[in-house]
Formats: sequence, structure tokens, C-alpha cells
Amino acid sequence: MRILMVSAEAAPFAKTGGLADAVSALSIALNKLGHDVRIVIPRYYKINRDKLTKLEGPMGVYCGYSEEWTAVYTTTMPGTKDLPVYFIDHENCYGRDGVYGTPFDPDFQDNPYRFSLLCHGAFQLCRKLGWYPDIIHAHDWSAALAPVLLRFNERHGEFAHTKSVFTIHNLGYQGWYSKHNYPVLGLDWQHYYSSGFEDYDQINFLKAGLISSDVLTTVSPTYAQEIQSAENGFRMDGILRQRSGDLFGILNGVDMDVWNPSKDKYIEKTFSTRSMAGKAANKKALQERMGLEVNPDIPVVGIVTRLADQKGVAELFAPTYGCAYRMCTDMKLQLVVLGSGERWCEDELRVLSSNLPNLRAYIGYDESLSHLIEAGSDFFLMPSRYEPCGLNQMYSLLYGTLPIVHRTGGLADTVQNYNEQTGEGNGFVLNHLTPSSIYDTVGWAMYAYYNKKDHIKAMQKRAMQSNFGWDVSANKYLEIYEMIQKRF
Ligand code: ADP
Repeated sequence: MRILMVSAEAAPFAKTGGLADAVSALSIALNKLGHDVRIVIPRYYKINRDKLTKLEGPMGVYCGYSEEWTAVYTTTMPGTKDLPVYFIDHENCYGRDGVYGTPFDPDFQDNPYRFSLLCHGAFQLCRKLGWYPDIIHAHDWSAALAPVLLRFNERHGEFAHTKSVFTIHNLGYQGWYSKHNYPVLGLDWQHYYSSGFEDYDQINFLKAGLISSDVLTTVSPTYAQEIQSAENGFRMDGILRQRSGDLFGILNGVDMDVWNPSKDKYIEKTFSTRSMAGKAANKKALQERMGLEVNPDIPVVGIVTRLADQKGVAELFAPTYGCAYRMCTDMKLQLVVLGSGERWCEDELRVLSSNLPNLRAYIGYDESLSHLIEAGSDFFLMPSRYEPCGLNQMYSLLYGTLPIVHRTGGLADTVQNYNEQTGEGNGFVLNHLTPSSIYDTVGWAMYAYYNKKDHIKAMQKRAMQSNFGWDVSANKYLEIYEMIQKRF
């Protein structure tokens, strides 16, 4: 099957979050299954042109008002022999720092134009290559115009048989702009309503993708259900309920070359279910690195997160009602936090860290410390308000670090609650996100750590045997690709 991935991000070239990993890992898994997958992303300023090959000749892309002249660069995806990644190069649109914006200007005003160029460019690229996909798979709002163009402008000639899949990685980001940007999308005004772009007299990219794509997917089965409710639907729940027959939830996988305790390069000592001694060495290294009392008997609870409201950080760290302070003073545990994000939260963590001997926070982004926290902690705390898929709870399971999570989205799909009678489960689950339920559930996990050692050991082993390989997810995507080929 021929599949074109259209995305604003693809690891390792451009990454701001889990989207980049998912696009590349899914493509690699499909490539390994023998399919002709190609990826197209913008050539951002940070992607070094010297390491890429330039395709011959310029590529004219008509988007709305005018034709833009672009160049196309290409390379092969690392780790594969024949998975091409194409980069659309355009100085005005992409020759600057940032994928969607910068910390000072988080959402570039010309994003409608920048991502219109990407989506129109994707079709033009196929013409340039003489390669026409069976599936155009667009990811998140920034690529949502591609399925819309397929439906209204392009479904003829060589694209007559092409079908579209649109994946929602996070419904919270929708690409909502003034309708004065509509002309740059290159769509006729007669499609303003029918394409789904119109939203309260503005344009909404994600909404158009939801209405115009042949099939919708999201990154976990539970999130696929949750986004059909008013509570988690970000105003799109009505559309998603209407399209529930076309909406599928497929759990993301994990890059097992990078997140694997038996060959992790970042950690103090590797380990596996057969030899767990390395886990104790990592705990010691983590306690030393964070300046905590080095003591193998005190349970370490780790957190690695963006410090954003989505992640439940207010319930943990808000100065008046957050439960972290009480947890650290009432319970015999150590709390290690790695994160960056909202300013109030960074400041509060610094205060807590200097006042409590058993809480240590590192403010910033640190890949190697994140691996050590996964490997050296006994528990991993992730009380997200909502979580489309979530990666850290999966990493934790693979590292035998029992997750303590809120029952939502991908967390609900991957963590099974501990049963004190039978010892079943692979983590601890709280049903309602409040400071007191986080406190109670962490307390319950500490009780099990001190009093049910056999259960904890068995849960760790079960957790480490989880299979989150991308091949499982890639096969599910393939089933969907095949299904839409037959259905329409
Ligand atoms: P989201 O994409 O919503 O931030 P995920 O759990 O899906 O949440 O993925 C987050 C990824 O970013 C994980 O790989 C996590 O380890 C990593 N991460 C988040 N914050 C940091 C940090 N401060 N330092 C290192 N890695 C981080």
C-alpha cells in the first residue's frame, strides 16, 4: 500500500511533542511491514539543508492568492533503507525558529498560510514524483487541510482512488483563526460551511479535518470515547458523536530501541525481569543525583512532565490546595520531579524543593534524567486531567516502575488497578482528579510498598512484560486503511 504521512513534525527532524515520535515510529513500522510509506513535513530553519538531497527543479505550489515557489529536499528516515522523508523548503514560511511559534510568540499569525502551503505542497509533491498514494494520512490540525483538499479539490485524475485518514493526537489544539485567512486555504467560498472550516465565524482547521476526512482515528480507545462527551470534547463532541462509526482509537506504541531497560544508554545499570539488581543501582544513582537521602528502603515516586494544567499539576503543586506538600510531610517517601512549563508551577516547585528534604525538583528538559527517573523510581505519578495516549506511563511499566494514574484516556487503557485481595494489576488508579484522591491513592501505593512486598514484586514483573511495540498499532492502522479502500 502507498501511504503519504502529512505532518508538521516528524522525529528526529522536527519535534515539539509526542506527535513527532508517533508519526515517525508508525511510518517505520509500516515500512517494515513492506508498505511504501513517505512523509512530508516543512523544512524548518533548524533542519540542516546540507545533510539533505535536493530534488531537481523548483516546485510551484498554488495556495489561494498566489503560486509560491518552493524547493523540495529529501533524505531517508534513520533506521530504514527506503523510507523517504520530503521537506518543503520556503524561506518566508519556514525560515525561522519554531514549528508553530516561539516561547514569546507561541502561535505565528501566518500559520494558516504556512500549513496551507504544507498541505497543497503535499499534493504537488506527489505530482512531481509521479507517485500517487492510496492513503493520505494527516496528523493534527496543522495537516487537517490535506483531507479537505482531497475531498473538495483533488479527488479526480490520479487521486481519484486516494482515501484520507485524520489522526487526532490532542483535541485541545485546533488551529482557530480569523476567517480573513480563509482565502489562503485555496478552497472556494462555497465550501466554507460544508468543509467544516466555519466555526463561530472563524476558521477551525481541526473541525474541517473532522468533517472532511474519510476516517478519523485517535491515539487510544478510551480517548476515542471520551472526546464524544461534552466534558472532554472541546466543543467537537457533537461532530465526533455524529461520526462515531468512522472514529477509531488505536494506542500509540513505544520506541523499544530507546525505552528498553535492558539496553538503555542513559541509565546507571541495565536490568530486566531476569536480573533486577540494576534497578536498585539506578535508584541509588537517582537519589545521589537529586541530593536525596540514599536509602534503598524509602520508596521513590517519580514525575516527568510538562508543567501544564492538562497534567494535573494544580492538584499536586498549587500553593493553597495542592497535595504534594502534605504527601511529603505525612508519608515516608521521596518525590522526584522533572518538568518545565507554566511559570507559577516552576516557582512553586523551587519553593517546595528548598523546604522539603524529601522533594527534589529539576526544572528544565533533560532526556538522560528522564530515563534515570523511569529506571530508578519505584512509582511514577501521572494524574493527568485528560491524556490522549500518554507515553510516560508506558515507559514506567516497561521499567517496572508502577504507575499511579488518573483513570482517563490512554492511562485507563494501559494501567490496571491493583487488587489487594488477589495481587492483580500493574499500577494504582484514581477515579476522580482531586488533591485528596491523589493523596489517598499515593498513600495506598505506599501502604502496599511497605506491607505487600510480594504483590509489588509480582506487579513489577507483570508490568515489565507489557508489549507496547509499534508493530501491534501499525497492523491496526493497516486494517483501517484496507477497510476504507473497500468501503468507499
Ligand atoms: P505530552 O506529549 O502530552 O507532553 P506524553 O506523555 O505523551 O505527554 O509525552 C511526553 C514526552 O516528553 C515523554 O517522552 C516525556 O518523557 C518527555 N518529557 C516531558 N517533559 C520532559 C522533561 N522536562 N525532560 C525530559 N523529557 C520530558
